[in-house]
Amino acid sequence: MTTTDSTDVVIIGSGFGGSIPAYRLAAGGARVVVLERGPWLSGEDFDHDFKFGSSSSRAFEFTMGDGMNVLGGNCVGGGSVVYFAAMPRAPRFTFERQGSIGKRLWPSAVHRAALDPWYDAVAESLPITQNDWPDVTYSGGLWAAACNHAGRTANPVPAAIDKSKCTNCNWMMSGCRFDAKRSLLLNYIPAAVEHGAQIRPLHEVQYISRTPDNGYRVHFNTVDEVDYREVTGSGTIDAKIVIVAAGAVATPVILQRSEEALGAMPSAVGRHFSGNGERLNTAIVNEDKVREVLGLSRPDGKAYEAYQIGKGPVAASWDKLDGNLPEFSRHSLEQLYFPPGFGTILAQVPDATGPSWFGLEKKEILRRWQSWLTIFIMSEDDNEGVFGPPPPTGNGDRISQQLLSRGALRYRPTENTLAGWERADADVRDILERDGLSRVMPWTNDPIGAYTVHPLSSCRIGDDPETSALDDRHELRGHPGIFVTDGSSVPAGLTVNPAFTIAALAERAVPGIVEAAAARGVPVRYVDRPPAHATSSRIRIPLGV
Ligand SMILES: Cc1cc2nc3c(=O)[nH]c(=O)nc-3n(C[C@H](O)[C@H](O)[C@H](O)COP(=O)(O)OP(=O)(O)OC[C@H]3O[C@@H](n4cnc5c(N)ncnc54)[C@H](O)[C@@H]3O)c2cc1C
Repeated sequence: MTTTDSTDVVIIGSGFGGSIPAYRLAAGGARVVVLERGPWLSGEDFDHDFKFGSSSSRAFEFTMGDGMNVLGGNCVGGGSVVYFAAMPRAPRFTFERQGSIGKRLWPSAVHRAALDPWYDAVAESLPITQNDWPDVTYSGGLWAAACNHAGRTANPVPAAIDKSKCTNCNWMMSGCRFDAKRSLLLNYIPAAVEHGAQIRPLHEVQYISRTPDNGYRVHFNTVDEVDYREVTGSGTIDAKIVIVAAGAVATPVILQRSEEALGAMPSAVGRHFSGNGERLNTAIVNEDKVREVLGLSRPDGKAYEAYQIGKGPVAASWDKLDGNLPEFSRHSLEQLYFPPGFGTILAQVPDATGPSWFGLEKKEILRRWQSWLTIFIMSEDDNEGVFGPPPPTGNGDRISQQLLSRGALRYRPTENTLAGWERADADVRDILERDGLSRVMPWTNDPIGAYTVHPLSSCRIGDDPETSALDDRHELRGHPGIFVTDGSSVPAGLTVNPAFTIAALAERAVPGIVEAAAARGVPVRYVDRPPAHATSSRIRIPLGV
């Protein structure tokens, strides 16, 4: 089936970068269509299971690259559906970063004070609340106690979670069936739909071309809801404004593929990718020492028994987020459980014999898993990831029906990145190996390369056209009317979880997009009221959408 359609604004992707403009523009009077590659799941669709076809395999995409792998959301709501909802603001110094090019990476118009009102808007809209110590899990408390023992500090992490609804089920990564996690399904998306925005799931955008009236045509395939490799139709939709928000792994692919139809892209499209300097360290905790040194104990295995999925970050050490320290030596350390790293972590635990192990050895490692603490590092990398050439269709070559594809990202960590990782690893060891509390194994890139859930910077904002694809209003250089508002627009790693900053930047971009849309004849105005909160993520899908 082929369809043709037209509207005022097409938005590609429904994560933070897509849903926020969808709501604001629809509320302001524009006709908005959101094309989302993944399915539309909500409430009880979210399973407490890993079997094929459960929300765990439908809502995620794991994109393997060369030297860097990325896990992200693949559903209406994007990463907000599967994320841990840790929502710190980026520290002031990150906006002053120069990377290895020796020039401020962020545009001069964007610094922490300028972004604070937009952070406030997001905090009110989701909303975000500060966790307190009683909200922190035993393992988070253990991390905080170990930090304290080492003369360091740790803090509970602010989160977009409704604590009154949270059942601590430990399945938040597969989507929250209790509507406790304040994903975009509970705020911006229902509010956008309320104002007439159409959300079209299972629509995978391939490329963008121009229309004779100076607008744009967005070309998509529809995909089967079980086997995403199967194309069920294709179509186009014309718009005066296009917002690309497919996430930092897909946005550069769509734009690079569009080059043939649109003309040359800025050279920074698909370059300067950052994995937010991410890294996992695994500590095998000595429960006796924990009891003796820190005075903490729980019945055997209780602390960590939810290894199969775990709770998100609840306590973090931010001592090294100090603007006086030189670049590439600043990082945050968050306690969390992160089972997708399971396979590779298991391959590198102390005494493991190699990456491929089965049988008794696996059983023994799984038994000890209950005493493992995972520390998540977010440091300053060097924007060294490069995309291209794009695959013929899709964001990558799909390897399985759901979940897995091979993408066009190459990543070779520079000396700066490696030194940053080394410092952060040493920091974790200094805290967790003190007085025999645990044995720490850092992530090694050997089995699969580096790994991130925070892809950034592959189409970034900036003042310098040589090193940034977008101007400070998020408009794609040389292609007026195309805006990019997702994680790819963030100029560099943030040293903290990025969703809050991506969302604040998207909020900040909206007035400029409204202005551009109005200049193209769209009857739209900027609306600053927050979205009304939905009480349930189950919203009626209008007929024919
Ligand atoms: C397990 C996990 C835990 C996380 N925890 C946290 C956390 O606690 N705090 C935090 O700040 N961040 C967290 N993140 C990261 C956070 O989810 C992302 O930074 C954020 O969602 C990125 O927003 P975005 O708008 O750039 O892209 P996304 O939210 O990824 O949205 C992009 C959307 O575009 C869709 N899309 C892709 N290609 C196409 C196409 N060709 N056509 C149409 N649609 C397309 C995707 O399916 C997706 O829905 C986590 C991520 C993961 C995976």
